[in-house]
Formats: sequence, structure tokens, C-alpha cells
Amino acid sequence: MADGPAFSGSPLDRVSHKRTDHAWLERQLADEKTRFLPVWRLEPMVKLPGAQALAWAKWVLFEDLDPRPEPVLLGVADGVAHFAVDVSALEKPVVELGVADVACFVELRAVASAMPPGDAGIAAHARSLVDWQQRNRHCPACGGSTRQVFGGAQRNCIDCSAEHFPRTNPVVISAVVRGDRCLLGRSRGWPARMYSALAGYLEPGETIEEAVRREVAEESGIVVGDVRYLASQPWPFPSSLMIGCIAAAETESVLVDHVELEDARWFHRDVIRDALDGAAGELVVPPSFSIAHYLLRSWVDSP
Ligand SMILES: [Zn+2]
Repeated sequence: MADGPAFSGSPLDRVSHKRTDHAWLERQLADEKTRFLPVWRLEPMVKLPGAQALAWAKWVLFEDLDPRPEPVLLGVADGVAHFAVDVSALEKPVVELGVADVACFVELRAVASAMPPGDAGIAAHARSLVDWQQRNRHCPACGGSTRQVFGGAQRNCIDCSAEHFPRTNPVVISAVVRGDRCLLGRSRGWPARMYSALAGYLEPGETIEEAVRREVAEESGIVVGDVRYLASQPWPFPSSLMIGCIAAAETESVLVDHVELEDARWFHRDVIRDALDGAAGELVVPPSFSIAHYLLRSWVDSP
């Protein structure tokens, strides 16, 4: 598979060696060429018509806003700095920004499949970083106020000087396979006939392999032996890293944990291939921008 999972592959250089340079940041913010991506209540701004490609703006768009938003640095491409700007304080953002004819705000999940891959990567980065800024206005150590530093790559506590960094929460997700069959599960409330790969958060002190074996055993009763890492995916809802694995099942008898899942069962490779190809059948799989889709496609296409 040539392309990585959706939300990977941002074309921006994160310039971590430059963002600690206050004078460099100031120059970028003042530069006419610098591009700003408005983000409203975690929705990126996209161009009309189409509502698929990101809509970048100049700083002049935000100059009259009160309070003045604080941009967060996403990175640099072709010598041009790119920032995200949280405009969540606005009630009618496209009207107040004067862009109603040319742009709108969209929920990233709804457009991820159609968005140009590089734009989806940038939007994922922006969504997670803006979300983290919003949630970390107060210090988890002392409760004091924090302030943004280094273009938003860090927040420092004004009272106790503690330094806080954006975090990513690891989630393991596995295609559990045995011969020509793969174990899939579904949660309550999902669309009819939709099943997906089993997933769960890594716990403190756990390896990826241990987390896969624990989650699969808890949810389905299946014993997993070999665990092979396949690919990872930034999942910006709000800030997870999906760690995609192929797990070899050593047992076949499924015992569903009905607290976690509504059902879990084995599907034949041919049934999964048909579902990935969009055929209307007994199975519906998650959308193409999910790593579950990517994992299943990789397994189905493997020799
Ligand atoms: Zn503090």
C-alpha cells in the first residue's frame, strides 16, 4: 500500500528547532506570506465550493477580533510558516470573519475521506493542538493559570513554572486473524451490520503486545499469540495514536464481553473483501479514513 493511513503525512515541517526562537516566531507572524488556518470549535475552515480543501487566511482576517486569538504554529512549507487560529469565541464565524461566500467550517470526521491527504494531516494536527490548548488553561500540578510558549508547543504555569506538553494517548487496534478468518466486533449504537477491529487504550506499564492480548481476551475471550505491528495513525478525536497490529489468534471460541461489545464474531476473508469494496452484504466495515479499514485491507490483500 503506497499511502499511509488518513491523517498521516502532513507536508509541513514542524521546525521544532526554530519554534523556541521568539524573534523567529515574531517575524513569521508579521510576514505577509504566512498562512493561518481558522479553527472554530475544533472544525477547520475549508474552501467553497467543495468544502474539502483547507482554507488558509492572512492575519488581517483576525486583526479586529476581541480578544485577539493566539495562533499556534503548525509548521513550515516552502519557506512559509503555517499557523492554526482558534476562533471558537465567535458565534457566527463565517459571518464575523467575512468569508461566508468562500469558506465554511466542517467537522473533520465528515470530510476526512474526501479531503486531500496532506490537508487531512494538517487538519488533524491543528485539531489536536487547538484542543490541547483549550483543555490546558490551568496547571494540572497546582491549578494556576498557564500561558502558551514556543508557538503553542508548550504551556507553562504562571504560578509554579511547571512545563506542560501536548500529549498523545496510545490506542491499540488489531485485526485478530486465524487462517482465512478475522475476528471483528461491534458496539451498541453502531450502524446496522457494522463491525470493526477490536481496540482499546494502552494502560500504564503495558507494552503494545500486552495491551493487544489483554484487550482481545477481555472483549472476546480469544487468546492471541504473535502480535505484528503494521501501521499507526494520528486520530485527532481528540488526540490519540492508533497503533494498528495484526494479531494471530490461538483459539477460536468467542465469549463476548457484553459490557464492552454488542457482538464479536469471525468473518471470512471474502466477506471482508466485499465489504471493503463497498458491496451491500452481511458486513459493513468502517470508512476508508479509519485505520481499521486500512488494517483489514492490508490483511485481505496479503498473500
Ligand atoms: Zn502550576
